Amino acid sequence: MSTSSTARSIIATVLGLAVAASASCAPPAPRTARGDPIERSDLVLGTVCTLRLLDGGSEAALDAAFARLREIEDRMSANKAGTTVAAVNAAAGSGPVKVPADVLFVLGKALYYWTLSGGAFDPTIGPVVKLWNIGMDGERIPSVSELQAALPLVGAGSVRIDGAASTVYLPRAGMLLDLGAIAKGYAADEVGRILLERGVKAAVIDLGGNIMVLGKKADGTPWRVGVQDPSDDRGSYIGIAELPGGTTVVTSGIYERYFVGEDGVHYHHILDPATGYPVRNGLVSVTVIAESSIDADGLSTTLFALGLERGMALAESLPGVEAIFIDAENRVYASEGAGSIFRLSDGAYTMATLP
Ligand code: FAD
Ligand code: MG
Repeated sequence: MSTSSTARSIIATVLGLAVAASASCAPPAPRTARGDPIERSDLVLGTVCTLRLLDGGSEAALDAAFARLREIEDRMSANKAGTTVAAVNAAAGSGPVKVPADVLFVLGKALYYWTLSGGAFDPTIGPVVKLWNIGMDGERIPSVSELQAALPLVGAGSVRIDGAASTVYLPRAGMLLDLGAIAKGYAADEVGRILLERGVKAAVIDLGGNIMVLGKKADGTPWRVGVQDPSDDRGSYIGIAELPGGTTVVTSGIYERYFVGEDGVHYHHILDPATGYPVRNGLVSVTVIAESSIDADGLSTTLFALGLERGMALAESLPGVEAIFIDAENRVYASEGAGSIFRLSDGAYTMATLP
């Protein structure tokens, strides 16, 4: 049925790690005063997560951070049985489900981005995601009738939250929550909090390309974080952003989770809740730079779904948020503030401005 990109992207992810660590967030050589860096990678949240402690911290800090990542996966994954999200989904149309405070928080943020995007970002996109299954076993082009049956089940406006009882209710059977566009950002924020609480003074958090830098580099220079080249393997960059500690860089793109159908068309994983098909607006990626990773993750998907003009207008209206859009013609559009922190490398891409 299709040519899957999944194996290729997983390999690229793993191979890219060494490059990512040296080229994008490159710390200087280890300094004895700070001790050797401590690094650990593991497969969590459906991706390779790497934590690199450069100043302070310990194996115990890494244990705590990875335990929290697994807890978030066990609560928020839509892909595995037994999670809180799976329980909410299984009870759709029959009754509310009690959820932990973090699930309520992430869902609340997702509903905020649903409102902000006018519905282009929708955490109830699950029934459509399941039909396409992009990046999973059995990815395929759904039939028009399957999509027509699924679309009425999508609509975050009908989600009922009872904050006092800490419950979530999906009122129609077949509705499915999918927090995949925002939960990784929350996970990065949580890892940052845990590491700081455990005495880490400088670190790089990389949750499958969702980057957060903490603290100061040993030589006092800004962190240098690469913006992924959409047409190359993970670890290749179109340019570098120079950033202070406490900044996150999150990209939504169409180049890792996709398949090419028998019709030769490239089908990717950011789906239009109005049509059920992958969003086609000429963009290949949107990178958001901000302080909060849950917001950067929610926004990267939101800005992608809104497209260049509306997405850029939204980014410019939000304080503390910068965005870099790349289109299929290799043009790079940076928000006003991003222009001063991001430098394009020599290569196939050119900076462009909106008319
Ligand atoms: P983003 O742009 O941030 O998000 C895109 C994802 O959001 C899509 O894949 C889809 O799930 C959803 N989405 C699509 N369209 C919209 C829309 N219009 N509005 C809102 N959401 C939309 N991957 C695996 O392969 N196996 C796993 O077991 C697995 N478990 C995961 C568990 C957790 C808790 C999380 C957070 C992720 C997991 N993933 C897993 C990855 C997940 O399936 C998504 O592919 C991933 O989160 C996408 O992140 P992104 O940053 O690439 O893209
Ligand atoms: Mg996102």
